[in-house]
Amino acid sequence: MPDDAAAQLPIAQQAPIGAPGKLRLMAVHAHPDDESSKGAATCAKYATEGAEVLVVSATGGERGDVLNPSFTVPPGYEFETIPGKRDVRRLEMAGAASALNVLHYWLGWVDSGLPEGDPLPPVPDDSFAATPLEVAAAPLVEAIRRFRPHVITTYDPSGGYPHPDHIYTHSITAEAWAAAGDPTRYLVPDGAAPWVPLKLYYNHGFSIERLKAVHQAMLDRGQESPFGDWIKERAERDADKGSEQGDEHKREVTTRIEVANYFPNRDAALRAHASQIDPQGFFFAIPRDLEAQVWPWDEFELAATRVPISHAPELNAAEIGLIRWDNGVFETDLFDGVPRDAAALS
Ligand SMILES: [Zn+2]
Repeated sequence: MPDDAAAQLPIAQQAPIGAPGKLRLMAVHAHPDDESSKGAATCAKYATEGAEVLVVSATGGERGDVLNPSFTVPPGYEFETIPGKRDVRRLEMAGAASALNVLHYWLGWVDSGLPEGDPLPPVPDDSFAATPLEVAAAPLVEAIRRFRPHVITTYDPSGGYPHPDHIYTHSITAEAWAAAGDPTRYLVPDGAAPWVPLKLYYNHGFSIERLKAVHQAMLDRGQESPFGDWIKERAERDADKGSEQGDEHKREVTTRIEVANYFPNRDAALRAHASQIDPQGFFFAIPRDLEAQVWPWDEFELAATRVPISHAPELNAAEIGLIRWDNGVFETDLFDGVPRDAAALS
C-alpha cells in the first residue's frame, strides 16, 4: 500500500550514515530509473565487492509518463496524480535498489517535468528546477556530510539529456562538491560535521565509441542494430556543435569500469522500473553476450579530484573544469588514489 509518509518531503537529517571502515560511493541522479540506466552495473559491482553505495534521487519522478506499453498499475496504486505516481515510482525504486544491492535516499524535490513547446514553458513553481540553488543543494550537502562518500558520480553540465532536472542535478552536485567540506556553509541544526569528498565523476552512458562498437558487432553477426539512426544523428549534432561552440572542450571518457558480471543486476534494476522501461525496448535490444564481449564497461569522466591518482599523480584539480585527459589511457577504478587508512575510511 502507498505510504503516507512518502508524500512528505524528507528533512536533511534523514540521509543514511555511512559505515565506517568502508569505501563509500554516492551516485546522484535526477529521478528514479536514471540510476539503473547510468552507471548501474558499477554501483552493483562496488556494493558487491564490499563498498557502501548510496544512490540519491533528487526528485520522485512525479511528472513522468508511462513509457512501457505493457505496464499495468500495481493493485492498490494509481498513476494519474502526482502523489499516485510518486508512490508507484517509490515502489519501483525500492526494487531497483535491491537489485543493485545499494542504499537509496530521496532528496524530496518534485519533478520539474520535461517542458515542451517553442518557446519552452517555464518549469512548475513547485518543482526542483524552480528551487533556488542554495535551497535545492542543502539536503544533498547534508546527505554528503552524513554518508561521507569518497567518490561521487553525477551528470555533466549538459545533464547528458536536456531534462531540467538532469541539468539541475549537475548544478546541485557541483555546489555540494564545493561546499560539503566547508564548515561555514550549509549549517543546519544538529547537522553532521563537514565532509570532503575526494573524487567527482560524470556518467557517460552512450559514448559514440560504444554505439559504433556495438552497432558494428551486431552487423557482423547479421543482426539488426538499434543504433544506426542514432549514430547518424549524433554525428550531425556533434558537427553542428563543433561549428557553434568553437573550441568548447569535448567531454572525455577518463575511466572505464569492467562490469559485465553485473549486467544481470543492472537489467533487473531496469525491469523494476516497470512504468518507465519497456522490457522489449531499447535497453534490452543488445544481446547480453555480445555486449559483454564488445563493451563490458561503464564509462565515466573524472570531473575533479582532491587526491593524486595513478594515471596523473601531478594532477591538481579540486575544482571542476581543470582536467584534460590524454586519449587512450583509462582509469579502471573509481577509488584509485583514495587513501585506505583508518582516518580516510572513518
Ligand atoms: Zn532521467
